[in-house]
Amino acid sequence: MAEETIFSKIIRKEIPADILYQDDLVTAFRDINPRAPSHVLIIPNKLIPTVNEVQEADELALGRMFTVAKKIAEQEGIAEDGYRLLVNCNSHGGQEVYHIHMHLVGGRPLGPLLMS
Ligand code: 5GP
Repeated sequence: MAEETIFSKIIRKEIPADILYQDDLVTAFRDINPRAPSHVLIIPNKLIPTVNEVQEADELALGRMFTVAKKIAEQEGIAEDGYRLLVNCNSHGGQEVYHIHMHLVGGRPLGPLLMS
């Protein structure tokens, strides 16, 4: 059984976060250290540590992350100019929190894909 991260506490509202959306499958909240004017994390409510642990049974929640990303991009007013969706995996991918999360980043030109 995977170990919980701070994101599980955010889902259960045990610690504060700027939650923009929550349903039975996913939660979306603003990143505490935004790298762009809009920086939102979209996560499954179920703890999946990395993309390597994704299962077919998770496809509904993982698909929901995209429809929620689309809605939030519209709400943030960045849909037309564009934005980036990013999922880091393990150390070479730069993953710091081991609860799968999609970064929704936008509000300025983001430059080439690899920034460091
Ligand atoms: P990773 O590097 O794992 O892809 O991204 C983790 C992200 O989670 C980072 O952008 C970091 O700023 C964000 N983060 C870490 N701890 C917290 C927290 O307690 N609250 C919020 N809102 N974001 C967090």
